[in-house]
Amino acid sequence: MKHLKALNKYFWKYRIRLGIGILFVFLSNYFNVLAPQVTGFVVDFVQQKLPDYKAPAQPPRYDIVVLKITKWISNPANGWIKVVALCGIVILVLALLRGFFLFLMRQTIIVMSRHIEFDQKNEIYNHYQQLDTAFYKVQSTGDLMNRIAEDVSRVRMFTGPSIMYLANLIAVISLSVFFMMKRDAELTMYVLAPLPILAITIYLVNNTINKKSEKIQAALSDLTTNAQESYSGIRVIKSFVQEKAMLGFFSRNSEEYKKNAVGLAKVEAIYFPSITLLIGLSTLLTIMIGGLYYIRGGHNIGLNTIVEFVIYINMLTFPVSAIGLTASMIQRAAASQKRINEFLETKPVIQNAEKVIKPILQGNIRFENVNFIYPHTGIHALKNFTLGIKKGEKVAIVGRTGSGKSTIAQLLLRMYDPSEGRIFLDENEIGRIDLKTLREQISYVPQDVFLFSDTVTNNIGFGLNEATISATKKAAAQASVDKEIAGFAEQYDTMIGERGVTLSGGQKQRISIARALVKDPGMVIFDDCLSAVDARTEKEIISNLNEYLKDKTAIIITHRIFSLFAFDKIVVLEDGEMVEQGTHAQLLDLKGYYAGLYARQQEQEGSRE
Ligand code: ADP
Ligand code: MG
Repeated sequence: MKHLKALNKYFWKYRIRLGIGILFVFLSNYFNVLAPQVTGFVVDFVQQKLPDYKAPAQPPRYDIVVLKITKWISNPANGWIKVVALCGIVILVLALLRGFFLFLMRQTIIVMSRHIEFDQKNEIYNHYQQLDTAFYKVQSTGDLMNRIAEDVSRVRMFTGPSIMYLANLIAVISLSVFFMMKRDAELTMYVLAPLPILAITIYLVNNTINKKSEKIQAALSDLTTNAQESYSGIRVIKSFVQEKAMLGFFSRNSEEYKKNAVGLAKVEAIYFPSITLLIGLSTLLTIMIGGLYYIRGGHNIGLNTIVEFVIYINMLTFPVSAIGLTASMIQRAAASQKRINEFLETKPVIQNAEKVIKPILQGNIRFENVNFIYPHTGIHALKNFTLGIKKGEKVAIVGRTGSGKSTIAQLLLRMYDPSEGRIFLDENEIGRIDLKTLREQISYVPQDVFLFSDTVTNNIGFGLNEATISATKKAAAQASVDKEIAGFAEQYDTMIGERGVTLSGGQKQRISIARALVKDPGMVIFDDCLSAVDARTEKEIISNLNEYLKDKTAIIITHRIFSLFAFDKIVVLEDGEMVEQGTHAQLLDLKGYYAGLYARQQEQEGSRE
């Protein structure tokens, strides 16, 4: 339960709404509780017309409002039919008043819970944005989605309905028990006796229902994942002729889901009849014991008391049966809030230092004996790496897959901090630079392309606050993707992604390059971004880059050699270690890895032509 304390700040924020809401709860119950009293009055009034009427020892001590109204109604000038009719109208008005405040109560408390939900979602989303890559590596997307969707809505069941039910329960019990006790304390005890049993039973049944629902949820989630994978992998499934196998897999999951759902339906089928049974028991006790009291005449009750009590019992039914429901809602909310708290308490490893600097970076980069071990996997991705890059230099990083090339980019963008050694930008150690300042001054094309489900323009202009159409077009031209965009139905307004046009791998890569080129910072990192581009377009882009990169510091990561591009320095990595370093000509003379790679590439290109 202590986990829910985290919500106090929200309750405080919406304290006025909450306070008014609780007031409305009491008002609606107050008008509700007056109805049985008016009914009791009518019953007694009619009974007085009967020959053997026995007046109770004391007149009932109704609420002051009821006393006033009934006194006014039972004015001897009114005939008895008129009195009964007026009482009917009073009961109707009470019901309307009750309904009105019920409406206001939902309007305040449920609306408050929606506000809290909104705030909480924003808080969580904001935290997601601050967490670093290391966090995302170990979390599954489904789990992350659950926090912001499922968990938040479970917490809302606490801040909204649960609070409302609890307030309602307290109001209805205190008001009706107050008036019942006033009338006859002993009868009240007998009549209320089955209610705790009711509450406990419902709580237990509810727990069973929740457990089953959870299983159903899990089965449903499996089913959805299964279906989703089938849709996105439909080409693979069809080409490997695995439709039947997939169908079998799906129906097994479906079967599991059905079994759980049927089980749940069975429990739910017992639920309502058992509630009705226990309420019936209370009503029975009221009539039986009340009747005995009345016949024996020892107690201060009339027939009207029995009628009143039966109505009170029915009034208590819903709130009391909601105890179980509320208790399990609170439990689930606490569990969800616990998960949310854990998440919110996760601090990003990569954070701004206490005193940050915001320099304008010239583009001098220096790695000093950098070692990097990936957390969680323990892979030693970069070993004793030392490299100096001067402002305006173009550096190529060449090596096999897994040799640590991308890791260099990750470290420069400070997605991770080095395990050992230091990185300097100009003369500033990377950790001291404000993260935003740092990342804003580097243009980065990641190895794996990610495009948003949005227009071409918005995808290219993503890094700018306001991308002009001319800047977008210029970047697209530099990335040699402008002609293709011109061919799309809506050109730059064409939607990309799941619901838009399907792009080839090369097109995606070039849009991703354009996104980096539209920014104009002093440092550029391209991570293997021409791998899906054909040789001719590659040449085109490289010659465009010559122009774009003129005054910039550039790190170009590649597993192919671009001999057309005059690199100031080429670095060869193997297993996280720098094995060769020099210019194209120097490295060819070395006759090592680079020379071998170049020879193989020349051979392939020769055979292609
Ligand atoms: P390259 O870009 O040269 O292909 P990487 O720098 O991506 O190589 O990877 C170097 C090594 O680090 C590889 O063994 C790879 O499996 C591992 N690695 C890369 N990224 C991660 C990561 N996020 N978490 C754990 N290990 C990683
Ligand atoms: Mg890589």
